[in-house]
Amino acid sequence: MITLYVEENNPVTPTFYNSILNNLQFHQLKCPCGQSGHLSIHGYYNRYVKTEDGKVLFRICRVKCKQCGCTHSLLLSSMVPYSQISFKEHLQIITAYEKGTPSSITLSQAMSFDESNFRYIIRMYLKHWKQRLISERISINGECLINSCFQHFKRQFMQIKSMPNILFSNTT
Ligand SMILES: [Zn+2]
Repeated sequence: MITLYVEENNPVTPTFYNSILNNLQFHQLKCPCGQSGHLSIHGYYNRYVKTEDGKVLFRICRVKCKQCGCTHSLLLSSMVPYSQISFKEHLQIITAYEKGTPSSITLSQAMSFDESNFRYIIRMYLKHWKQRLISERISINGECLINSCFQHFKRQFMQIKSMPNILFSNTT
């Protein structure tokens, strides 16, 4: 998959996703195989992401590389691969947890969040990410969290499966 970098203050909406795609210079995109300029649109699939407006349907674009034959989803850096919960909400939950907020129930209610989702995110964080971040001295509240995770681990923060994922920064 290929992650298109977007500033964090942008909305996580289908309209915004589509506008990024419309403005994307496809010939500049780099495939995780290392080749640039060989990716073209292969199709779309539907995916729900929970946003402030509830569950919203996105039409996620897939591209295919003419060199290696692989297909890749185009995601935004405001999303977490395989998760319906946005990057921002992942970060809010983990930050609250690290600050020692009393209980996940209190916290999930405060954020109007399903408690099971909440506990799941904390569990995945502890199992797959916490030690990893410590070992590279990456702070969850640092400005370079996304960049650092791609640089050191070749995946988006909180991405659990180890599918190849690269960050494309030239989105504007
Ligand atoms: Zn390729």
